[in-house]
Amino acid sequence: MRAVQVPDTKGPFELVEREIPEPQAGWIRIKVQACGICHSDSLVKDGTWPGIQYPRVPGHEIIGVVDLVGEGVKPWKNGQRVGVGWHGGNCGYCDHCRRGDFFACNVALLTTGISFDGGYAEYMVAPAEALARVPNELSAVDGAPLMCAGVTTFNALRNSGAQPGDVVAVLGIGGLGHLGVQFGVKMGFKTVAIARGKDKEPLAKKLGAIHYIDSREKNPAAELNKFGGAKVIIATVTNADAMTAVLGGLAANGVLMVIGAAGPLSVDPILLISGQRSVKGWYSGTSIDSQDTLSFSASSGVHSMNEVFPLERAAEAYERMMSGKARFRVVLSMEG
Ligand SMILES: [Zn+2]
Ligand SMILES: [Zn+2]
Repeated sequence: MRAVQVPDTKGPFELVEREIPEPQAGWIRIKVQACGICHSDSLVKDGTWPGIQYPRVPGHEIIGVVDLVGEGVKPWKNGQRVGVGWHGGNCGYCDHCRRGDFFACNVALLTTGISFDGGYAEYMVAPAEALARVPNELSAVDGAPLMCAGVTTFNALRNSGAQPGDVVAVLGIGGLGHLGVQFGVKMGFKTVAIARGKDKEPLAKKLGAIHYIDSREKNPAAELNKFGGAKVIIATVTNADAMTAVLGGLAANGVLMVIGAAGPLSVDPILLISGQRSVKGWYSGTSIDSQDTLSFSASSGVHSMNEVFPLERAAEAYERMMSGKARFRVVLSMEG
C-alpha cells in the first residue's frame, strides 16, 4: 500500500510503499477513503508530542470501510463504513475509565496517528472501540473533517449547558468555527459569529448566524452584551488575547468553552466572581461522540467546506492547511 509518513522528528513527509498492516486481536483493518488534515498533525510532523515512535503515519480524521476484522471483535463486519478520530482507545478499567472519563485514561490512552499509524495511508488498523458508524448520506470526504473539527465543536456545544434559544457565540470562523456556527444554528441557539475583518460576515450569515461581530471594528464583549450576553462562547481561535477580549461578553453563569490551543490566557477574576462565569476546556470526544456528530450532521445538513487533495500530494495539502491559506478544511482523498 501507499502511505505518507514522517520518518523522524522534524522530518519531511515521504510517500512510501508499505506492507498492508494486519489487525491484532481486538483491532480492525480499515481501507481508508479519506483523511482530513488537522493542525494537530503538526505534533507528529514537528516532533512536539513526547514519546512518538518514528516513522509515524499521521492523520486522525478518517473515513473508510472495514476491510478485515481482528480476532475477538464482535460488532463490526467487512464492508461497513466507519470513521476514526483523535481518541484511538482507552483501557476501560482504570478509575477514570470506570467513571466514564475515557479522555483521562491513565493506563492505555491511545491517540490515532500518534500512538499508532493514522489515515495518511490506503490502509490502517485501529482498536474496535475507536470506530464510529458513518451514515450512508455522508460521503467520505464530507465526513472526514467531522471526525475531529466536527466532533470537537459539536461535543463542546452539546455539553456547554446552553439551551435552545440561548445566545451562543462562536469565536473564530475557520475550520472549527464554520462548523461551530452551523451546529449552533441547528441546535437552536441564537448563534453569533465573531471574527476579525469584514470578509467572513456574508458566510457567517449564510451559515445561519443571527449576527456577525467584526472584532477589528467593534468591541466584541460590548456587542455581545447588546444581546444580553452570551450563555456560552466557543473559542476556536489560537489567539489567547482574542479569548480574553470576549470574556466580558458572557452572561451571568456564562461559560467560555476553550477548544483552540492558544498561549497563556489572561482572565480577570472579578469578571468570573461577579457573574459566576467560568472558563472550561473541552476534549474532542470518543467514538460514540463522533458517531453522534456524523449522524447529526447528515440529518441536519451540516457541511464542512473542504479542499481535496490526492494522498501523494499530502505534503502540499499540509502546507496549505498550516499556512492558513486554506480557509476551512483540507482533506486527502484515496479515491483519486
Ligand atoms: Zn484534530
Ligand atoms: Zn483507562
